Amino acid sequence: MRVYNFSAGPTMLPEDVLLEAQKELLSLGGCGMSVMELSHRGKQYEPIHMECISLFKELMGISDDYYVLLLQGGASLQFEAVPLNLLIKGRADYVVTGNFSSKAYKEAKKFGDIKLTATSEDKNYTYIPKVKKKDFRTDIDYVHYTANNTIFGSRWNYIPEAPAPLACDMSSSILSEEVDVSKFGLIYAGAQKNVAPAGLTVVIVKKSLTEQTMPLCPTMLKYGVHGKDNSLYNTPPCFAIYVATLNLRYLKKFGGVKEIQKVNEYKAGLLYGHIDNSKLFSNHVAKEDRSLMNVPFTTGNEELDAKFVKESNAAGFVSLKGHRLVGGMRASIYNGMPVEGVTELIDFMKKFETANK
Ligand SMILES: *Cc1c(COP(=O)(O)O)cnc(C)c1O
Repeated sequence: MRVYNFSAGPTMLPEDVLLEAQKELLSLGGCGMSVMELSHRGKQYEPIHMECISLFKELMGISDDYYVLLLQGGASLQFEAVPLNLLIKGRADYVVTGNFSSKAYKEAKKFGDIKLTATSEDKNYTYIPKVKKKDFRTDIDYVHYTANNTIFGSRWNYIPEAPAPLACDMSSSILSEEVDVSKFGLIYAGAQKNVAPAGLTVVIVKKSLTEQTMPLCPTMLKYGVHGKDNSLYNTPPCFAIYVATLNLRYLKKFGGVKEIQKVNEYKAGLLYGHIDNSKLFSNHVAKEDRSLMNVPFTTGNEELDAKFVKESNAAGFVSLKGHRLVGGMRASIYNGMPVEGVTELIDFMKKFETANK
């Protein structure tokens, strides 16, 4: 029996995708081998790899000015790879709106003159600062921010204007809503939230930004090296890329990002609506900055929160415990979470509220 998995990641994949992978697990397309056993340079695997890249381009409207890279190391390795690739003048500006952007900022500081332009740390990351172009330095290589804050449940509802290319961590929002990629120099995302199992990291980078790197940038971290080789410079995470391809095909058939965005807005609207109308539960993020993907909520009482987590888990709603930095509960409702998962959770919350008046 399947449960509704509200984990922040890795998390739910559409059942159709899992069944397809299961069906082909022992013999991909009748070749007598699993995708996990194939050479990454063979004629069975390569079309899957190239299809993954082209589906990303199609679904996100990415022009040929960009490389779509299929890498490893997680979003966390990009905290280092971004400065190592992009710091040419040696300066970059960061906006810190949560735990992951704070980590990215700290790593980047090892490599150059990095300025903290704005942060929402003063209110425990419950809002997104309004930053303007004039807030940034002009002689910088890039501006970095995190589009969706997985732990604190906030989301940038605008793309900042900047005097330099934008580098953005979209790990927990990629493919969940439409994005104008042409406004970015670089986008990166760990795949385990909206795309595939863990092990794959997607980097979308403007080719013109890959011609030069910091001199000490390791070869394996150079975007240009991977880009020129279609991410086959070394062995890629073949199985994760295969599942990503199945999931992207599924999303395309569903109607693409535009259609899944409608579903995501609907799901988030239902859940926030219920929390705001409830006398027991509350969410502390500024309304206009609320995440569509990660919804933290609390009863305001630690014991009652623990009871909720325990009872919801027993009822088939798993991983609702909030991150230790926030406490309470968090429902992550990525693309893979069906609408019924959210409506049934709301029913459970209603019953819990009545029983704990
Ligand atoms: C999950 C997450 C990360 C960390 O990803 P890893 O792949 O585990 O390194 C970084 N940034 C954001 C926004 C995330 O949600």
